[in-house]
Amino acid sequence: MAWVKFFRRPAGGNLAKSYQPGSMLSLAPTKGLLNEPGQNSCFLNSAVQVLWHMDIFRRSLRQLPNHDCHGESCIFCALKGIFSQFQHSRERALPSDNLRHALAETFKDEQRFQLGAMDDAAECFENILERIHLNIVPDADIDSCTSKSCITHQKFAMTLYEQSVCRSCGASSDPLPFTELVHYVSTTALCHQAYDRREERLRSDDMFGELLQAASTIGDLRNCPVGVLHSA
Ligand SMILES: [Zn+2]
Ligand SMILES: [Zn+2]
Ligand SMILES: [Zn+2]
Repeated sequence: MAWVKFFRRPAGGNLAKSYQPGSMLSLAPTKGLLNEPGQNSCFLNSAVQVLWHMDIFRRSLRQLPNHDCHGESCIFCALKGIFSQFQHSRERALPSDNLRHALAETFKDEQRFQLGAMDDAAECFENILERIHLNIVPDADIDSCTSKSCITHQKFAMTLYEQSVCRSCGASSDPLPFTELVHYVSTTALCHQAYDRREERLRSDDMFGELLQAASTIGDLRNCPVGVLHSA
């Protein structure tokens, strides 16, 4: 039994047109972000650094004229503020306090990302993307957003579908489509797969895609999708 995930390009996105690798504009100025003792802002700072160094995100954010503003707790405004400081400030390290406050205020009901508390960088990154979607298209459903101006969905959303394929009889289940902004995969599983396939590596062009597929299938023991009981 194999569990397969197929990856598709984001609907309507045209990455090739808006992204030119190697152009001079892609050299984003590098500055640090402050993390004073007790602030525990490293999870947020690393998410901000990732976003800043992604050319496609940085440029798209700059070009957006307006948004649904949440005032003091507006993640969109706070992020734009940091980006503008990255670009114009003469300081070598900048405070991320405004964004930290906006994040804490936005998630106070969930008790996530609160001031002084540590949190998860990947989840912070994903939540910032979701909030930016809400800032740009507040009425669009997060799972089916097709707005051309939504950076979150145009640049990050992957439409995936899961399908189980039986190794014994080849039967497959109906594909189950869903949208994902961040794809989580175990690094250990990925490394194991890379090690197991080191012989094939020289031959295969789409090695990473296959590794991802195999790594997310490990340990999945689902039954034959047409209900046949195969003997082991
Ligand atoms: Zn705002
Ligand atoms: Zn969206
Ligand atoms: Zn089967």
